[in-house]
Amino acid sequence: MSSNEVFKCTLCGDCCKGYGGTYVTTDDIRAIADYIDEEPESFIEKFCTTSGRKQVLSQKPDGYCVFWDRVCTIHPVKPRMCRAWPYIESVLVDVQNWYSMGSMCPGIRKEVAEATVRKAVEAMLPAKNLR
Ligand code: SF4
Ligand code: SF4
Repeated sequence: MSSNEVFKCTLCGDCCKGYGGTYVTTDDIRAIADYIDEEPESFIEKFCTTSGRKQVLSQKPDGYCVFWDRVCTIHPVKPRMCRAWPYIESVLVDVQNWYSMGSMCPGIRKEVAEATVRKAVEAMLPAKNLR
């Protein structure tokens, strides 16, 4: 079974809205700041919010990510978390997370068997985490 058979993004944009924000790593910050021609410090100041000890991308008043404008405006350098979705570690920790994620992401196929989901995530995770 290919990854397309467990997930096919509908481009609805729902994952760019709410859900506690999008964490950005140091590498993400460097890449996005460079892409939009900002220094990392000013990028953090203008586009990030602190959540605990981490930086998350700020949200606009409508709840969408500050970089959402009907499409992701930083697509080539979008954060690791956005690139990885929905092939994330927590699915391997508990495959039930896949089915919960499917309640908010219409691209996720929830009728697929657990073993198939696990196999697809194991196959896709390393590639999705490359930078
Ligand atoms: S919520 Fe899912 S289907 Fe919608 S844009 Fe995000 S990844 Fe794609
Ligand atoms: S960076 Fe792009 S893909 Fe990630 S939440 Fe923001 S708009 Fe969506």
